[in-house]
Amino acid sequence: MIIAIDGPAGSGKSTVAKTLAKHLGIRYLDTGAMYRALTWKAMQHNVNLDDENALCRIMEQTQIYFESEEKGLQVFVDGRNVTKEIRSPSVTNNTHHISGKPGVRAMLVNLQRKIASKGNTVAEGRDIGTVVFPQAEKKFFLDARIEIRAKRRFRERETPDNENSLDSVIREIALRDQRDTTRKDSPLKISDDSIYIDTTNLTLNEVIHRIIKEVNP
Ligand code: ADP
Repeated sequence: MIIAIDGPAGSGKSTVAKTLAKHLGIRYLDTGAMYRALTWKAMQHNVNLDDENALCRIMEQTQIYFESEEKGLQVFVDGRNVTKEIRSPSVTNNTHHISGKPGVRAMLVNLQRKIASKGNTVAEGRDIGTVVFPQAEKKFFLDARIEIRAKRRFRERETPDNENSLDSVIREIALRDQRDTTRKDSPLKISDDSIYIDTTNLTLNEVIHRIIKEVNP
């Protein structure tokens, strides 16, 4: 069984997917973390992020895998735990180079399918229900107003200090939305068979209950 959870940044995908996977006792697959992991490795090796062939070569030589630990899902690149590093602003700002290259994307999608083929999985990302697992049993698309999504991200940061930085998070998210929706080969879009949930006025618990009810009616 595959449960697909798609949506833009700050819509609540990761939190919901993690909680749902735990509740069902099945694997959680964070596909965004894989794009981040490859971005991190390419940056470590000073690969030109505009050079698709070089990125494909580095992907061929890279082992990306997850381990589920008490403190949460840990992301490894070639044996090194990079869970923290892949959330840095520089990686966040460069991930679009990786996700915007169809060849690299295809390799990551293959790896995502391989991981999910090992058993029941809750997979989270931007093209899960449309491209990676169009056959998924249940598909959800989470969304929320941009100001709310930005506020959620803003609150997560270590030193959320002033209104200016909230504005900058809104701009950051707007840019990511634009990149996500205009990507040529695999844009963020809602598939016909997915359940759309606007989380703007819902608490996390409300979202999770709603999803669990759909999965286990
Ligand atoms: P995404 O994976 O879609 O980018 P996250 O799951 O990382 O989003 O959520 C971003 C932040 O917003 C987290 O701190 C999370 O706890 C919070 N959050 C997510 N959904 C809700 C919600 N419905 N209500 C309140 N806070 C939420």
